[in-house]
Amino acid sequence: MRIPLAKPDITQREINEVTKVLKSGRLALGKYTEKFEKIVADFIGVKHAIAVSSGTAGLHVLVKIFDIKDGDEVITTPFSFIASANCILFERAKPVFVDIDPQTLGIDPAKIKAKITPKTRAIIGVDVFGHPADWTELTKIAHKHKILLIDDACEALGSVWRGKKCGSFGDAGVLAFYPNKQISCGEGGMILTNNIKIDKLARALRNQGRLNYTWLQHDILGYNYRLDEMSAALGYIQMIRSRQILQKRQKIVNIYNTLLNRELADMIDTPYKSPGCSINYFVYVIQLKPRFKQVDRDQIIKQLSAKGIAASNYFPPIHLQPFYRQQFHYKQNDFPVTENISQRTIALPFYSNLTTAELKYIVKSLAAILKPYL
Ligand SMILES: *Cc1c(COP(=O)(O)O)cnc(C)c1O
Repeated sequence: MRIPLAKPDITQREINEVTKVLKSGRLALGKYTEKFEKIVADFIGVKHAIAVSSGTAGLHVLVKIFDIKDGDEVITTPFSFIASANCILFERAKPVFVDIDPQTLGIDPAKIKAKITPKTRAIIGVDVFGHPADWTELTKIAHKHKILLIDDACEALGSVWRGKKCGSFGDAGVLAFYPNKQISCGEGGMILTNNIKIDKLARALRNQGRLNYTWLQHDILGYNYRLDEMSAALGYIQMIRSRQILQKRQKIVNIYNTLLNRELADMIDTPYKSPGCSINYFVYVIQLKPRFKQVDRDQIIKQLSAKGIAASNYFPPIHLQPFYRQQFHYKQNDFPVTENISQRTIALPFYSNLTTAELKYIVKSLAAILKPYL
């Protein structure tokens, strides 16, 4: 058996729609981008959604719009995919990391205050693995200190925190549609906001700085961060099917939780879920119990791979990535909660069309691999 870590859920419907685009001859700046934007805005419950070429591009555009630049500081989490911190570096501002809450794995609001300085311009909260950050506390802190708040919801399509969907918190949010996300459009992302000025600027920045759509008039410095029509058509159909896709993924989570808690409760913890939120997981990440070391974890991932099961170490801490260490002189133990957890995480295969037989095989294999550690 060979089981990948992730696999997009693509049906004939997506293929037909993308084919329509190809036959139409209109491959960019067309109606599918608008349709994709509208369906995402309605789904999340925001006024504006602006399609861009990736989640990373979306984050960069927001940093640019908020005029975050050299000398500014932005508070964010070291336990995330690297893009949520890199977008700060793109504009030569400084990412200021704050350690995480050991349960939600999101930035720990209680530790933020100590890191706020007169140079702090914004907080980028990340909904890690699909679990919402504590948006109640983050919003309070941002208001109190008059700083901007960005919701990196690239891993949390449809997750809900106290009645509101991820991506709708703060001044603006971002979704991503890379093939391993809940739904995909190939490469693509979406900026979300209720602010018309942010909407207007985002549309200009993604489109070579055109504020008024006069083709060869460039009002501000912009980028080509547009989404093409094939991707938009794919994303549009995926959004139409999102209820079904997310339900299938939830069923997989339930089966994993049941099997793993039954067989391996003394060795691992299944993903934590805060009361009062609903979660659409991006990856299904288990944690080995604290007695396990990083070498054990790495070995376990290798052994899974030898059995045809792709697994991964989501996430190595951002502050310990080579160029962050070099530039900011971070070292081991700077963010102990992040480091402690990140040594013991294993992302298991997770996608909507995993079969029960595959799930049983994964859990049985993991149990056999973990047996010597009992
Ligand atoms: C996936 C992801 C992004 C954006 O990814 P792209 O590949 O650029 O679409 C940003 N932040 C986080 C936390 C992510 O997981």
